Amino acid sequence: MQPVVVAGGGLAGSEAAWQLVRRGIPVHMFEMRPVVSSPAHRTDKLGELVCSNSLGSDRDDSAAGLLKEELRALDSLVMKAADAHSVPAGKALAVDRERFSRFITDALLKNPLFTLTRREVTEIPARPCIIASGPLTSPALASKLQTLFGQDYLYFYDAVAPVIELESVDMSVAYRRDRYADGEGGDYVNCPMDEQQYQTFYEALIAAERIPLHDFEGKAEYFEGCMPVEVIASRGRDTLRFGPLRPVGLNDPRTGKRPYAVVQIRQDNAEGTLYNLVGFQTNLRWGEQQRVFRLIPGLEHAEFVRMGVMHRNIYVDAPRCLDGCLRPRGMDSLFLAGQMTGVEGYVESTAMGAVAALGVFSFLNGLPQLQWPAESAIGALLFRLKDATNPRFAPTNANMGIFPPLDEKIKNRRERHEKILSRGRLRFLQFKANNALFFSEPGEK
Ligand SMILES: Cc1cc2nc3c(=O)[nH]c(=O)nc-3n(C[C@H](O)[C@H](O)[C@H](O)COP(=O)(O)OP(=O)(O)OC[C@H]3O[C@@H](n4cnc5c(N)ncnc54)[C@H](O)[C@@H]3O)c2cc1C
Repeated sequence: MQPVVVAGGGLAGSEAAWQLVRRGIPVHMFEMRPVVSSPAHRTDKLGELVCSNSLGSDRDDSAAGLLKEELRALDSLVMKAADAHSVPAGKALAVDRERFSRFITDALLKNPLFTLTRREVTEIPARPCIIASGPLTSPALASKLQTLFGQDYLYFYDAVAPVIELESVDMSVAYRRDRYADGEGGDYVNCPMDEQQYQTFYEALIAAERIPLHDFEGKAEYFEGCMPVEVIASRGRDTLRFGPLRPVGLNDPRTGKRPYAVVQIRQDNAEGTLYNLVGFQTNLRWGEQQRVFRLIPGLEHAEFVRMGVMHRNIYVDAPRCLDGCLRPRGMDSLFLAGQMTGVEGYVESTAMGAVAALGVFSFLNGLPQLQWPAESAIGALLFRLKDATNPRFAPTNANMGIFPPLDEKIKNRRERHEKILSRGRLRFLQFKANNALFFSEPGEK
């Protein structure tokens, strides 16, 4: 059998290769390091962690924990490496990064079905292939992807505003109204500020600690139209009031008066449970984001499911470009994997490596593509990659807001989350039982 090409040996590429070779499918991986380096990688190892050594929460009462469980059920190489080389980090799964990536590299290299060539991929291969070249895909390959998807559908930067749970917004302070619309009601939820509240918020915002931009992220032209909120603020006390916090046309229906400034939040998922802070793309440190944005009236107890980020990140507009199985629309044997599919995070990227591999496996065996249950963590991530509600797609991580709502209404948050996760667990088990061929051990019939 002709080997499947895997372009990129990061987390997703390594996971994808593993999932294929353990199913008897030969893989030819092309990894450009160390011949060509990415701006963030430091070693020539497969599965290198570019930044933090934490793979996030491993708690069974979290979305990230459920995602890890599902990957373990798939015999994930990345999870094996993490479990074998974990270091103490409370409820998070942190690893000894050097041993972690060595474990992944060794496991792949010793598999007779695996071949590694250290070379940059500059063309999209014409045979069954998984592109897993990551958020820092080399410019030559990125330009080929841009040609494939079109200029408007491949993003080079993530400039994302924080996302919060709507139910954590204090609606006795905030109100629904669309700009210039009559009366109450509308798509936007507005958080009004008086002059004193604005002043307090403004001072906290400009003094808050920022994440330094890497050299490769510093090009201002990429930030056109999506300037970090703290940078807009630092241009003058009133720039926000004439920009994203403009109160015109947003009179508070309870007082009939125009607030001094208004922060608007807008629906971010199809279910309407998550909202993003409009115009609040930010480069503040995550802890600082929570501290400062909770000064906004109505958001004092906001639950953040995703923090704002601004960094180099090549990813596709998945809902408009991919077919739900990680293939560019209209293509049957080309799959994307990892962060570039529109997920964010080490484990999420890994999961999209596994999904792509199982997609290739189905394709090569003439089987229909798997329908991952939307209630499972992997299925919920895939569902988000199909959700075209938001005109400007932003990458997503595993959080409680990505799951479909329960049929029943449960007020208690913890209880509701438990129910959502146990439903996910059950649906994943059923999915596994119904697709035994994909979950069998190597050598099993
Ligand atoms: C600077 C930065 C910091 C991040 N920090 C974190 C963090 O702390 N925690 C977290 O959960 N997530 C983080 N992420 C997000 C994401 O989880 C990681 O980027 C993750 O490594 C993505 O996995 P991947 O497999 O998609 O890409 P990668 O792990 O980056 O793997 C891609 C691989 O493809 C190779 N490659 C690129 N182009 C080519 C080519 N043309 N030909 C051949 N090989 C190629 C690269 O060398 C690399 O080995 C960060 C992202 C960035 C950019």
